[in-house]
Amino acid sequence: MTIRSVQSVLQGYATSDGAGVKLVRFFDPRQATQLDPFLLLDEFRSANASDYVAGFPPHPHRGFETVTYMIVGRMKHKDNHGNEGDLGPGGVQWMSAARGIIHEERPQQDQGLMFGYQLWVNLPSAQKMSEPFYDDIEADRIPVCALANGGTVRVIAGEFGGMQGPVRPRPAEPTYLDVDLPANASVTIAVPRGHTALVHGVTGKICVGTKATVLLARQCAVLSRDGDVVFATGSETGRALLLSGKPFGEPIVHYGPFVMNTQAELQQAVEDYQSGRC
Ligand code: MN
Repeated sequence: MTIRSVQSVLQGYATSDGAGVKLVRFFDPRQATQLDPFLLLDEFRSANASDYVAGFPPHPHRGFETVTYMIVGRMKHKDNHGNEGDLGPGGVQWMSAARGIIHEERPQQDQGLMFGYQLWVNLPSAQKMSEPFYDDIEADRIPVCALANGGTVRVIAGEFGGMQGPVRPRPAEPTYLDVDLPANASVTIAVPRGHTALVHGVTGKICVGTKATVLLARQCAVLSRDGDVVFATGSETGRALLLSGKPFGEPIVHYGPFVMNTQAELQQAVEDYQSGRC
């Protein structure tokens, strides 16, 4: 059995987005050729309301999909197509912005912990101008696979242990798992050959890769492209996300919330937004 090795560990950098939501960004579209089909990963985790209450006022997207996973807290979503959704603990919103959507996300709390992730997944050129859609997936729609060692795997997208995640088939063929292990346990996860794979520490300590690199919370490991992913814990428990997807190998140009294949398409995206064609 080939085990994927850790190629690099991303430590993230502090930044803010929306109307001033403080977050840690692990990568952005500038690193996207390396992490294709993934474009961006943000973690928001704060019990200080001033870090998140301002939320994300209306803003556009075109050319890709945004995936929000709430661990703790509640956020309301609204868009210019008349959709509204309430994202609660353990829930996921998978939004395909495709040819264009203007949306806003507002925290539904003014105290306590707000903790979650936003991932951007690219679309191939043939689908960047498709119809947008979104799925609000409540926590109870996400199957939980109980491991013999006492651990659990929540299957958000893709397949694990004979369970299929609720996210409809996507061009990037993504796998999105939330793996929670007790101490002294391990799990092996098959990922299609050639797919990009990332492991992101949520809590505790997870050992990953051929050299059992210790991954802490708020660290993101980029794995090699071939073989299975092995997670293990030592004397502490560990929880981590596994993200994988098929690279498209297409040119990536981006400007703020737009990610396209050419400068001309990017220019068009800005013009369409400015003239209300979004
Ligand atoms: Mn957004």
